Amino acid sequence: MVTNNQTTKTISLDAYGIKNAKINYQLSSEELHNKTLEKGQGKLASSGALAVNTGEFTGRSPKDRFIVKDDVTRDKVWWGNINIPFPTDKFDKLYDKVTSYLSEKEVFVRDSYACADEKYKLNIRVITEHPWSNMFAHNMFLRPTEEELQGFDPEWLIVNAPDFKADPAVDGTRQHNFAILNFTKKIALIGGTGYTGEIKKGIFSALNFILPVDKNTMPMHCSANVGDNGETAIFFGLSGTGKTTLSADPERKLIGDDEHGWTAENTIFNFEGGCYAKVINLSQENEPDIYNAIKPGAILENVIMNEKGEVDFEDTSITQNTRVSYPIYHIENIQVPSIGENPKNIFFLTADAFGVLPPISKLTPGQAAYHFISGYTAKVAGTEEGINEPTPSFSACFGAPFMPLHPTKYAEMLSKKMKDAGVNVWLINTGWTGGPYGVGSRMKLKYTRAMITAALDGKLKDVAFEKHPIFGLQVPQSCENVPSEVLNPKGTWKNQKAYDIQANELAASFKENFAKFEEYANDEILSGAPIAG
Ligand code: ATP
Ligand code: MN
Repeated sequence: MVTNNQTTKTISLDAYGIKNAKINYQLSSEELHNKTLEKGQGKLASSGALAVNTGEFTGRSPKDRFIVKDDVTRDKVWWGNINIPFPTDKFDKLYDKVTSYLSEKEVFVRDSYACADEKYKLNIRVITEHPWSNMFAHNMFLRPTEEELQGFDPEWLIVNAPDFKADPAVDGTRQHNFAILNFTKKIALIGGTGYTGEIKKGIFSALNFILPVDKNTMPMHCSANVGDNGETAIFFGLSGTGKTTLSADPERKLIGDDEHGWTAENTIFNFEGGCYAKVINLSQENEPDIYNAIKPGAILENVIMNEKGEVDFEDTSITQNTRVSYPIYHIENIQVPSIGENPKNIFFLTADAFGVLPPISKLTPGQAAYHFISGYTAKVAGTEEGINEPTPSFSACFGAPFMPLHPTKYAEMLSKKMKDAGVNVWLINTGWTGGPYGVGSRMKLKYTRAMITAALDGKLKDVAFEKHPIFGLQVPQSCENVPSEVLNPKGTWKNQKAYDIQANELAASFKENFAKFEEYANDEILSGAPIAG
């Protein structure tokens, strides 16, 4: 296992316009950890992990994420308030400003790559202002061997300058922070924000363009793991729905926790080399794998610690979006390399804050496509700026903020691959039961895990199913290790009438949201819509 990448190699940044910088190239985790402590930018946790504060931003800022509009992107990107266009000349000027800002400074450079499958490997050079941002890149991207490093040819460049502030009036940004992708120059330019998630999601967005356009590969915002029988499962879902939590299953080998590609050769591969888990309310008992991954090499973000360095995972005084990043080998049971076969089961995870959707249901191919395009969840507070309480949200492909192309492009690819693979598709509500947020409670993690295990073990094949009268989904009526009353959401509500009203309202908002996709959808997909509402 490559843990450190200390190297004899030296590099120059002159070609990037970064002059006379004190370059720290390819430091080890330990060195970056110590540098962070020396600069007073972090603290040592009792677990041995590094704890940092990311500053003003503790989540991504989707309104400040731009794509340079030029010949490469003009006709391909689905422009709008998700993929916001940025002019080429403004990009060039801002790039020059950021690189001259970094000149004369101490900077940290890391060469790494994305995509665990050799054939799809994307070499990345990351230049950061702060040591801990560099350590994040070290955790999240894949690590070249010393030999690969000697001949390393960086294809994409990430420039990360959290303390640089843009001047919107001059620079063309919305405010002082920005994350801009330039597909022609192959640069992700990030400034004004220290939130590390921008680094990984920048490359994810780039791959979500490159892979389908150039490599006939379906990029997915999902986690993945594989059972002893070699069967792969993938878990789609928006932030906070349980991708990381549910893929860390001691009985199965983890392939990856957030971003994967599904190739034309019917394999899936992880884009990343690490995990980025939420730690709000984390406990060793409920999530032992993640808890035990917090050790030297890991970076805790925005957590509160006592004077002994013990973290209070319940303390959300900085943000609800407290996180830890760690290299994937901090998890015990992993697949090496991070590649799996055609999935046998696909789970769509949703955290329904209205307590309406069944905790597990089986989808027809039409429903699978419909729900994939809809991408429903209720946003959980904190991962994005400005979301302070659960809000219903539809995000196409369970990841619209990272998808540069029109959602139907991804949906078509997925539908075809799902059919070819003959995969089972399940909708899992990891959200509320017994009533909406405020009245009911979050589905117990152990029940969700039991439902997923039953589906994976084929134990739901022969049980009785009932069709949900409003959503038309097939709901199993019994499931090992789950009380059967939990399986039917209506029965968990005190007020049955209130359930019907709420369920119809949610069904109606599905339909309202889907209206913009109707012209692209065939009869099969339309047959997946809710029955009522
Ligand atoms: P992101 O895309 O932001 O990384 P994610 O999909 O990986 O999000 P997780 O990090 O797994 O989401 O977050 C799920 C959170 O919900 C965790 O804090 C987990 O402890 C909590 N949780 C509570 N109940 C459940 C449940 N029944 N199933 C899954 N997660 C649950
Ligand atoms: Mn995650």
